[in-house]
Amino acid sequence: MLVADNHVHTEWSYDAPRGSMEASCRRALELGLPAIAFTDHADFVKVHPDQYCVDINGYLAAVEDCRIKFPELRILSGVELGEPHWFPKETEAILTAGPLERVHGSVHCVRLDGALVDASDFRDQEPGFDIRRATHEYFKEVLAMVELGQPFETLAHLDYPKRYWPEGAAPYREEDFEEEMRAILQAAAQSGRVLEVNTTRGKVLCPGHIVLRWWREAGGQAVAYGSDAHDPDKIAAGFEPARQMVESAGFKPAKDPTDYWRR
Ligand SMILES: [Zn+2]
Ligand SMILES: [Zn+2]
Repeated sequence: MLVADNHVHTEWSYDAPRGSMEASCRRALELGLPAIAFTDHADFVKVHPDQYCVDINGYLAAVEDCRIKFPELRILSGVELGEPHWFPKETEAILTAGPLERVHGSVHCVRLDGALVDASDFRDQEPGFDIRRATHEYFKEVLAMVELGQPFETLAHLDYPKRYWPEGAAPYREEDFEEEMRAILQAAAQSGRVLEVNTTRGKVLCPGHIVLRWWREAGGQAVAYGSDAHDPDKIAAGFEPARQMVESAGFKPAKDPTDYWRR
């Protein structure tokens, strides 16, 4: 069964030089996806030298062009908000620029000893870098994001540091962060949010089955699939194992195939 890809980056994202909205539409049609959502980065931090926030008006115009070119494809507009709780004004400006159908809330960065560090750089830190402490900080920040009430719908890649876990470190275990993740899931469920299962372009399910069980236990109702593709070739990558995992956790497809899966 095919599901919508709710998390795709295009050339409107600073970190997707190979992204292409048009090629992504063609790929989605080839795959037979019921829908694709373009959720480019609305980042307000500057951690990477070439980092910039999506030009939301240009992006929305490009979505409209693709809807005209590919009338047979359901194209959802969207955005991936980075650390929206640090930037309420900037977030509001993005969200009021036009209709956005998929709004993801993401933490990428944490403050460590006064410096801003993207968790994708955790494995490239100096020797002696305490990745566990950094990951505890990461989850603290995710909880703050959920609790501070910025209007995002989907909690994206909840255990993002897992993707960048250094080889040679003691392995990442969900249980080591259980208390924090359960608190986040509780807050997300109470505020009616959707948990994303991010397939990391086919590499790793983020989060995995243990966290999905905690999501159910917290009263979580809905799950979204997202590949986080930054390249049309990666659209819907890893969706088959993700679907099996979500199904075995007790979530079912909605009647409308473009909708989230629910319990
Ligand atoms: Zn992200
Ligand atoms: Zn993303």
